Amino acid sequence: MSNYFIGIDLGGTNIKAGVVSEKGKLIAKASVATGSTPSQIVQQMIQVAHQAAKDGNVGMHDIEAVGIASPGPLSTTEGIVLRSANLPDWHNVPLRDLVSQSLHRPAFLENDAKSAAYGEFTAGVGADENITNFILLTLGTGVGGGIIYHGRLIRGVSDSAAEIGHSIIEPNGDVCGCGQRGCLELYASASRTGRYAQHLLDTTPSRASSLRVLVAAGTRIGAREVAEHAQMGDELANEVWDRACRYLALACVNAARWLDPQMLALAGGMAGAGDFLLDRVKRHFINLNWKMSETQMQIVLATLGNDAGIIGAAALARDAAHQR
Ligand SMILES: [Zn+2]
Repeated sequence: MSNYFIGIDLGGTNIKAGVVSEKGKLIAKASVATGSTPSQIVQQMIQVAHQAAKDGNVGMHDIEAVGIASPGPLSTTEGIVLRSANLPDWHNVPLRDLVSQSLHRPAFLENDAKSAAYGEFTAGVGADENITNFILLTLGTGVGGGIIYHGRLIRGVSDSAAEIGHSIIEPNGDVCGCGQRGCLELYASASRTGRYAQHLLDTTPSRASSLRVLVAAGTRIGAREVAEHAQMGDELANEVWDRACRYLALACVNAARWLDPQMLALAGGMAGAGDFLLDRVKRHFINLNWKMSETQMQIVLATLGNDAGIIGAAALARDAAHQR
């Protein structure tokens, strides 16, 4: 009987695959460091899929379908990844069909952040029958997003819905890699939070900060260091953390106005700070949010961690396979 699905999460650092049950339970997973060429990467995806199946004691013939979570831009209908930010020779790669042909299983392609959102919605923090409208924000190198509206993942007409990280929140702000100015991810991603702290340390050399000890020791300042030192009472780190949280709260207000969902979950590197992120975002949210009526949207932390993409991709493959 085919009651299992494989989710493959193609990340910039690691390629992960997991065997997932019909109900969204992760049975086994495997991972490998991401290679450098498209053909190498496709081969690795096949290898980790086989490894996960082996570790889960599930034969490939018991796998009903395979879901692939990949960074975009991509086309879900054609199953093609158009470009990659990390791989210069990655152009129009028919990833879905390459994986499907090698594994002899139907495969489906989806954006990584959307897959993670679907994972959290179906098997994570949003897995509750009362939650039908749900948003996930992943705060990592960039800011990714996924929107579920009445139980369905929103893709838009060109698979670029929910690119929340490229919402403009500072019209005169910095130029983003996407060509716009002032995108959310320039102000509220984990990597940018670390970079802003470094910027303040560099441009205000007379300002005291416990982060300077780390810099002197050769440590690169990331969101984790900022959060830790802000919690220890460092004023500069606190200013940086607070700024990122305020921008996130601003995005949350806009999300509430656009969709009025029951829940918005925060995931990714920044969410590693736990309640220190959540409480601060909520505090700013209350200040920034309208006073016209009560906002139902709960702001929460995601619960699946790095497995959200695997579980979501598998769930999307399940739903797509059952629809056919
Ligand atoms: Zn942008």
